[in-house]
Amino acid sequence: TQSTRPQRLLGAVQKNATRGDPCSVVKAIDHFCRHKEWAMNVGDEKGCILDSVVSEINPATVLELGTYCGYSTVRIASRLPPHAKLITLEFNPDFAVIARQVIAWAGVEEKVQLVEGASGDWIPKMKEQFGIKTFDLVFLDHWKDRYLPDTKLMEECGLLRKGSVLLADNVICPGTPEYLEYVRNSPRYESRYFKSHLEYTKVEDGLEKSVFLG
Ligand code: SAM
Ligand code: MG
Repeated sequence: TQSTRPQRLLGAVQKNATRGDPCSVVKAIDHFCRHKEWAMNVGDEKGCILDSVVSEINPATVLELGTYCGYSTVRIASRLPPHAKLITLEFNPDFAVIARQVIAWAGVEEKVQLVEGASGDWIPKMKEQFGIKTFDLVFLDHWKDRYLPDTKLMEECGLLRKGSVLLADNVICPGTPEYLEYVRNSPRYESRYFKSHLEYTKVEDGLEKSVFLG
């Protein structure tokens, strides 16, 4: 039977990365995606921006929307302080199976809870199901038309506090115009663009970091 791209990506991790070494897992995936097959990970260039935001915030609670193969999950989890928790949502079960193995290979599974299902279904249940009060950081990287409705849903559900940070990927490519217009013009956010490139390409893309002001 034919293998899928996520399966081949996992194969590259198992062949080239050291168990328990998140940095080597990230490197193996970047090498595979730059030289063999492109895949929709945040990638090395925007990944450095993601790393610096995680380190700056030093969050105790993180929500990631869109796990795919767990690349950004590993990047974020490996920079979290002890006892911090990262919940990552993925609605494609084939991707979730791969991501669990990538996360375990990196040795960060204790910090990560991978939840299978759609963001719109899970966000309203976060408080009761996972005992979350608010998220210190949310990384938005799922389907682009969900950024705005899910942000409004997180606001309604009381998952954001004054100072919570939303970090959104792909705001230029493929682009999230309604979301950008919202966070840049709403008095409830202070928003800033970090210019970069679409993963593994020279095409402009970037991350938008938006601080919720309450
Ligand atoms: N964050 C990952 C990384 O950088 O390594 C890449 C995530 S990929 C760009 C987007 C993922 O979001 C896909 O795997 C897709 O199945 C998932 N997804 C899209 N919409 C979703 C939703 N509403 N709820 C849960 N998962 C979703
Ligand atoms: Mg992305």
